[in-house]
Amino acid sequence: MSRKLIDSHRHRGLRMHLVKTLRDKNLCSREILEAFANVKRHYFLDDAFADWAYKDTAFPIDADQTISQPSTVALQTELLNVTRGMKVLEVGTGSGFQACILSYLGVKVYTIERQRRLFEKTSELLIEMGYPQIRTLYGDGYAGSPRFAPFDRIIITCGATTIPEELINQLAPGGIMIIPLGEGDVKKMVKITKGMKGKLTKTVHGTCRFVPFLSGTNGHKQQQSSKRNNYINLD
Ligand code: SAM
Repeated sequence: MSRKLIDSHRHRGLRMHLVKTLRDKNLCSREILEAFANVKRHYFLDDAFADWAYKDTAFPIDADQTISQPSTVALQTELLNVTRGMKVLEVGTGSGFQACILSYLGVKVYTIERQRRLFEKTSELLIEMGYPQIRTLYGDGYAGSPRFAPFDRIIITCGATTIPEELINQLAPGGIMIIPLGEGDVKKMVKITKGMKGKLTKTVHGTCRFVPFLSGTNGHKQQQSSKRNNYINLD
């Protein structure tokens, strides 16, 4: 990637304004606000859209996907309740911004993306930005990552209609999963806690909008077919 990453006074000013907006919304801890103050969101957008980077809105990125709204990232991160050293799986790498926020908080991030183009572009950007410790994976998030499981936390950053059983299996006892869940465009922000003996508890934390959690990858047509994913019903 030949693009120069420049963090100007103007970018810093806009970033601090976003942090103030998030603080005023009282969505997340001081540590998470500090992560927002340090992770340069304009690096995740094309230079032409740098001014949009610090507005509290979702924004289009490559492959018809979106970088999530900062308020949503703040809320999901808060609900995830991470502590340093935890292993976290993110489904939906997208731009890589959420992964960087988590990495800044000192967790080991594994992040999966189903769009090959985004996977390649974001993997490159994260290295260039100085986050080589984030492990990017290309694949179908419904399958999680058996190789690196179990995870202390799982965060889904696309809109699901069901709770994938395979991801629950990869959640460690005592673990937390945050998943935007429901039929239709407006999802519920759901927190699932797995007890030490595997009992699942669900709480709901408002509503949100996300691009869909699709099955399969876009690079392997045969996996895009009608493969069924088992799911858990917590209604
Ligand atoms: N977390 C991202 C960020 O910080 O920019 C935003 C993610 S974007 C809202 C949702 C992403 O989920 C898209 O990049 C989409 O390709 C991805 N996605 C959808 N279904 C998926 C699946 N089965 N496995 C992996 N990624 C998936």
